[in-house]
Amino acid sequence: MSEIICHGCGVEIQTEDKKGLGYAPPSALNREEITCQRCFRLKHYNEVQDVSLTDDDFLKMLTQIGDSNALVVKVIDIFDFNGSFIPGLARFTGQNPIILVGNKVDLLPKSINPNKVKNWMRKAAKDLGLKVEDVFLVSAKKGIGMDEVATGIEKIRNNQDVYVVGCTNVGKSTFINYLIHETTGEKEAITTSYFPGTTLGFIDIPLDERTSMYDTPGVINRHQMAHYISEQDLKVITPKKEIKSRVYQLNEGQTLYFGGLARLDFEKGDRKSFVCYFSNELMIHRTKTEKADELYQNHIGELLEPPNADTLEELPTLKPQSFHIKEKTDIVFSGLGWVTVTEGGTTVTAYIPEGVRVSLREALI
Ligand code: GDP
Repeated sequence: MSEIICHGCGVEIQTEDKKGLGYAPPSALNREEITCQRCFRLKHYNEVQDVSLTDDDFLKMLTQIGDSNALVVKVIDIFDFNGSFIPGLARFTGQNPIILVGNKVDLLPKSINPNKVKNWMRKAAKDLGLKVEDVFLVSAKKGIGMDEVATGIEKIRNNQDVYVVGCTNVGKSTFINYLIHETTGEKEAITTSYFPGTTLGFIDIPLDERTSMYDTPGVINRHQMAHYISEQDLKVITPKKEIKSRVYQLNEGQTLYFGGLARLDFEKGDRKSFVCYFSNELMIHRTKTEKADELYQNHIGELLEPPNADTLEELPTLKPQSFHIKEKTDIVFSGLGWVTVTEGGTTVTAYIPEGVRVSLREALI
């Protein structure tokens, strides 16, 4: 196919990869003005849709943002801080201010103090080398905290453009769609405008006469659990409503399996409770550590599920990492959930598919 350019965002049109940048159904090629599906939806339904980006285009995208004067709004999934972090963002955004938006707050137990979550986000960002101007906690789906973030953006952007960035699946489109509908109302369709020479698929949503908010394509992060598992399994591990804690009193030498996707061994310490925060649909199994390997070999994909058969083909092996816990601490399994170890003097080994991250943080509850 000779190069056809989207009339909306300037990206090269392709007709094969439905989730990829520049996708248009083959029938769209007969139209006079050819737009990619993402621009088509924005124009006619006032709605953005997520598309993903290759690594090369991703670098180009970051460079362009760094070359502009703008506010960067980085959306993350609070259940997957590490997995939804954009590597290298700080290096490329230059002097531009960044605000961090933690999405999906509706899933957290009500007993969590939001300020603690914000402090943790700020600290985790700093540890990853990202200085942020402000932190917000929202549910784009439920509209929680969205007025505050809209006001914050208006204040911090200082009449400059806004780039909204995020990894796939963090809820970036839900976030932008909420803002579009709040600011423009249902009927007033937004027109997309062609960016000469960018071909990066930024979608332009005018904020006023001079400035715009840009929806950027979603970045695929290889540390995301979502990257390794089937769509069906993703549904099981993604919480749909507020998560309920599940408490296990454990002795040393006992193990918990979270489906077959993660595992926690209580190696050493006095009997104590382990409070588990995962999707209510994810099964947790308790067993003796000495029997844990055998259980895994014999029952992965059945008793220990997910993974289902599709996921098993792709799933990296579970990799162990040991921690000595000195005080009440959360062990965070990126993209899955976390376990609060309620007292110090505890040695544990956490297992997660290789490539996905386990980290510690001060207990949120
Ligand atoms: P994108 O790939 O970053 O654009 O993400 P989407 O906007 O497509 O959202 C990814 C998934 O997260 C979808 O299943 C959404 O319904 C869900 N989602 C988005 N925002 C929220 C939220 O605030 N709370 C909850 N519980 N789910 C959300």
